[in-house]
Amino acid sequence: MIPVLQVEDLKKHYPVKSGFLRRTTGQVYAVDGVSFSIAPGQTLGLVGESGCGKSTVARAVMRLVAPTSGRVLVEGTDIATLSKAELRPYRRQMQMVFQDPFSSLNPRMSAGDIVGEPLLVHGVATGAQARARVAALFAQVGLRPAQMDNFPHQFSGGQRQRISIARALALNPRLIVADEPVSALDVSIQAQVINLLMDLQRDQGLAYLFIAHDLAVVEHIAHHVAVMYLGRIVEIADKVTLFRNPVHPYTRALLSAVPVPNPKLKRKKQLLEGDVPSPMRPPPGCAFHTRCPIAVARCSVDAPVLKERDAGHLAACHLADG
Ligand code: ADP
Repeated sequence: MIPVLQVEDLKKHYPVKSGFLRRTTGQVYAVDGVSFSIAPGQTLGLVGESGCGKSTVARAVMRLVAPTSGRVLVEGTDIATLSKAELRPYRRQMQMVFQDPFSSLNPRMSAGDIVGEPLLVHGVATGAQARARVAALFAQVGLRPAQMDNFPHQFSGGQRQRISIARALALNPRLIVADEPVSALDVSIQAQVINLLMDLQRDQGLAYLFIAHDLAVVEHIAHHVAVMYLGRIVEIADKVTLFRNPVHPYTRALLSAVPVPNPKLKRKKQLLEGDVPSPMRPPPGCAFHTRCPIAVARCSVDAPVLKERDAGHLAACHLADG
């Protein structure tokens, strides 16, 4: 089966300019060689601390930024080489939901106009037909069609995120890139929005690239999980394997912070000391060695490659086998 999305060795480096002449004096290695694929109807959770490059991956996939190198294939076609006009049909297939539903919704447009805008822009429907489609989308995401004429400020945070999701669904996409879609919401509302996304996936076969800084958020929704650190994936596996048998010390540290319902099974808390190093000057060798509780001398000189441990379970760590 052709993946809905296939990302191959994606890199995005931002030049750092300084001085009067604005000379390029360095690079921010925001994304530095990321590969993954998502099958139809599946969810990949992309997880890592703030600043590790998750949003940049999302923006490069959506072509909101041009990648420095690498390929982004949507249903088998490399969209990096397409012109704006050629890109149009692919834009319909991929939609994005952002973290903050307040700043991503135009406050001067009614909720109905926000949801219906993609229909007009792509010439799919107008007038009464568009209004009927918008009403159906409202119902689909658990909003009352009677609320169509209300403005974003008249909705709660969770409802605003439902508006964003309805808008993303308007053109029947195959993939939704959701960048921290529940991080700004109360915990009780987070579960409702995640359940809505899962229901929509079941009914429509949608694929999701679901970004979160916290493993707990993806535990319910993801089929596969990729853990990023300083612009690279350090471990990727199906969700059950990653949660039961994490091999990278960074994944283990992130997992130790995930609450477990049974206190007897409580994981030993493993605090990550210090901050993520600057992606302008990633540490030599394994980028994680400066914070790694089990690092040995080799880790500071020799960069580990992402190696398959078991079928579909890859990790980049010299010590993961031990
Ligand atoms: P995350 O989503 O994991 O928090 P981001 O993808 O937003 O991480 O950022 C990764 C790194 O790239 C950060 O160090 C950030 O400061 C840097 N970065 C992001 N966008 C730009 C930009 N437009 N110019 C320069 N640096 C950027």
